[in-house]
Amino acid sequence: PSSKLPDITTTIFTVMSGLATEHRAINLSQGFPDFNCPEELVELVTKYMRAGFNQYAPMPGVLQLREKISLKTQLLYGYLPDPEREVTVTSGATEALFAAIAAIVKPGDEVVVLEPCYDSYIPAIRLAGGIPVHVPLVVPDFHIDWNLVKKRICSRTRAIIINTPHNPTGAVLTHHDMETLANIIDGTDILVISDEVYEHMVFDGDLHSSVLRHPSLRERSIAISSFGKTYHTTGWKIGYTIAPPALTVELRKMHQFLTFSTVTPMQLALADYLDQEDHYLQLPAFYQAKRDLFCQLLEPSRFQVFPSSGTYFQLARYEAISKEHDLEFAKRLTREIGVAAIPVSVFYHDKTDNKFLRFCFAKSEETLRKAAERLVAL
Ligand code: PMP
Ligand code: GLN
Repeated sequence: PSSKLPDITTTIFTVMSGLATEHRAINLSQGFPDFNCPEELVELVTKYMRAGFNQYAPMPGVLQLREKISLKTQLLYGYLPDPEREVTVTSGATEALFAAIAAIVKPGDEVVVLEPCYDSYIPAIRLAGGIPVHVPLVVPDFHIDWNLVKKRICSRTRAIIINTPHNPTGAVLTHHDMETLANIIDGTDILVISDEVYEHMVFDGDLHSSVLRHPSLRERSIAISSFGKTYHTTGWKIGYTIAPPALTVELRKMHQFLTFSTVTPMQLALADYLDQEDHYLQLPAFYQAKRDLFCQLLEPSRFQVFPSSGTYFQLARYEAISKEHDLEFAKRLTREIGVAAIPVSVFYHDKTDNKFLRFCFAKSEETLRKAAERLVAL
């Protein structure tokens, strides 16, 4: 049969986690914690399941949860979205991204993506008939060259996708970046899809630069987050979008036919648990300690490491160890050394290889120490 995405193969996260299992390697590839979510969350889910909340949730999400999301948004970013008209709960940020792109991109529209970029963006753009316009981030700190972005924007540009904190690089956008973006798209119809799933993992005392803080960006943005990252529950697949009413109407047209609604008892449990501000307010320190430990453990190694500014990922350059292509190197590392990581070239349309691997440090201290021991021996 003819394929709609002939060049797309199985996602690297499935490939590397599969290889890690096959070779019993320490899996620092696909991003997920190796520790459990808060016990109280588990108890809340059980409570709601026992109480009979096991049928369809409302299409846009359980209202209590949308209300709590609004209050949290006001607390953190100074803007109170209308839970009825601006907040939609989705089956993970993955569904939110797909629904957002499907809702706004028409055949022939161009969408600016910054590379390396998360692997679900480009297939979604192409399936909508859109044309991805790739702008590389500047190595080695992966900042955005806004002049280059400006040059790639034209009358066909429908949207730009930003991601802060950034997967896979750990770079974070600053207030100045957001101002620059707002200025560049001022006077155009360009929309912003802002992937902020790592909003609670910004380190060294920096603030997360949400589009929701910024009045002129907020009016034309779909902001996306994920409870999987914040509550150590990647397997629950619950995320959400915040977008102005007109965009939300369009997004929900997609959401209602992609999944219709999202798992009910988990939404109810999260609605209760969102009151515990301490959980997400302590997350930066919690993950910064893991980043610092991992970087410190890698110091005696031949990897070159620039500490990540956000996310639970750390890039490491391996040029001093091997000249192999990063995909080959990552596979060999898994097979022979017993540590799995993600090769960064897979996040470039032309597989640009800057000799970086991405390691996930959302792991127990013991896991990080064991992995580092093997990496230092290289
Ligand atoms: N965007 C980015 C940048 C991510 O890293 C992830 C998680 N891998 C997602 C979206 C998808 O999130 P979810 O697991 O909630 O679907
Ligand atoms: N977002 C996770 C990562 O970057 C993986 C999610 C997935 O496996 N699709 O590692």
